[in-house]
Amino acid sequence: MDFRFSEREEAFRKEVDDFIVKELPSDWTEKNTHWPGGYGTLAQYEELSPQVEQFVRRVVEKGWVAASWPKEYGGAGLSYMEQAILQERMSYYRAPSGDVATLIVGPTLMLAASEEMKSEWLPRIARGEARFWLAYSEPNAGSDLASLQTRAVEDGDNLVVNGQKIWGTAAHVSCYAWMAVRTDVSAPLHKGISLVIVDNRSPGITVRPLTNICGLHSFNEVFFDDVRVPKRNIVGEMNKGWYYLVTALGFERLAIPIGGFRRTFEEIVRYTAETKDNGHVLSQRPLMRSMLADLAIRIEMSYTFFWRAAWMLDNGIVPSIEASVLKLVTTELSQRMASIGMRVMGHYGQLEGRSKWSSLQGRVCSGYLDCISALVGAGTSEIQRNIIAARGLGLPLQ
Ligand SMILES: Cc1cc2nc3c(=O)[nH]c(=O)nc-3n(C[C@H](O)[C@H](O)[C@H](O)COP(=O)(O)OP(=O)(O)OC[C@H]3O[C@@H](n4cnc5c(N)ncnc54)[C@H](O)[C@@H]3O)c2cc1C
Repeated sequence: MDFRFSEREEAFRKEVDDFIVKELPSDWTEKNTHWPGGYGTLAQYEELSPQVEQFVRRVVEKGWVAASWPKEYGGAGLSYMEQAILQERMSYYRAPSGDVATLIVGPTLMLAASEEMKSEWLPRIARGEARFWLAYSEPNAGSDLASLQTRAVEDGDNLVVNGQKIWGTAAHVSCYAWMAVRTDVSAPLHKGISLVIVDNRSPGITVRPLTNICGLHSFNEVFFDDVRVPKRNIVGEMNKGWYYLVTALGFERLAIPIGGFRRTFEEIVRYTAETKDNGHVLSQRPLMRSMLADLAIRIEMSYTFFWRAAWMLDNGIVPSIEASVLKLVTTELSQRMASIGMRVMGHYGQLEGRSKWSSLQGRVCSGYLDCISALVGAGTSEIQRNIIAARGLGLPLQ
């Protein structure tokens, strides 16, 4: 087994690195407080500075928004491994890149949608013109998503949608909902669901903010009252939405900002090497060293799962269980890293970035709160373990 990148991949990695260092404002990585794995501290809820907007435009121009898509759909035609390299490097610098549209909606459309739908949506997504939010969860349908009740009834060329979604991350700053609706009430739960694209500006949609644990408006509850959606916005076949949803959830679980873990870890290690307590640098303490060594091992493990998933995709193998494993391992790492960060920094860890006494921009403080979201979004840790037990180990479903 050869774990090295090929020459071409090494060259691409360098190209991406050089690009980021040249184009991304030099203070962005340090100032950005995103906690790896967390949903609550993503930069996408804020207005970006003109320089960062410019960076995003340059990424679009290079075709890197949809790096592994075929060129005919506006992609760069790169391999999944090259896309993973891009994802790793971008997240290492906490650069804005990859979102619901490019990492989840686009890849699912590629597999499930008609040629007409692909031609309509994929190039727009690749040009960064269509931002999506995921409209799956409802007040009574989270882990048990198949029990969702939002109804869509056929009326001529339209569906008429009524119901409520909740926890819609970034719904307030997106143009379209990627939405699961019930289109057949008489069929078994999994067989009466369709996936549709809904324009957020449609009459009858009300978006209400929900404030997250970090005090930011990141997600929303969204109400649909007689919202008319053209039937041509149904993804693939009507009532087959559950299968597309499972595919989309797999892509979501692979969309890990893996480089962010390494970056944040390096910052914590540097902190222990530079900070003194009672005359001794923290990194001399056996407990600190042991905790950091433990994190280092888990980061390497996560990287291995990450590269393996990319390799599988390049070889035509669907990383289904592997997506759950990657999601589980990295989100639990997110929480472990925040706990260890807190122990390393002691009381200083509780200071927000605006305090003059805080370090690392208060990242450990907000990360300690934000990491909880990682364990819940895209399916909780318990659900990932259930999937691994059932699909991976062949144990009976519960
Ligand atoms: C920050 C954040 C962002 C989110 N963004 C979105 C979004 O953009 N779009 C969207 O649609 N949803 C989003 N969600 C919702 C998320 O997908 C759900 O919260 C999640 O699936 C869990 O559902 P629930 O909250 O209803 O909890 P429940 O399903 O009620 O679960 C409660 C507890 O019971 C456990 N549990 C449930 N069933 C089982 C089982 N069979 N076996 C073992 N344990 C079980 C769960 O693990 C959990 O601990 C987001 C959630 C968070 C926290």
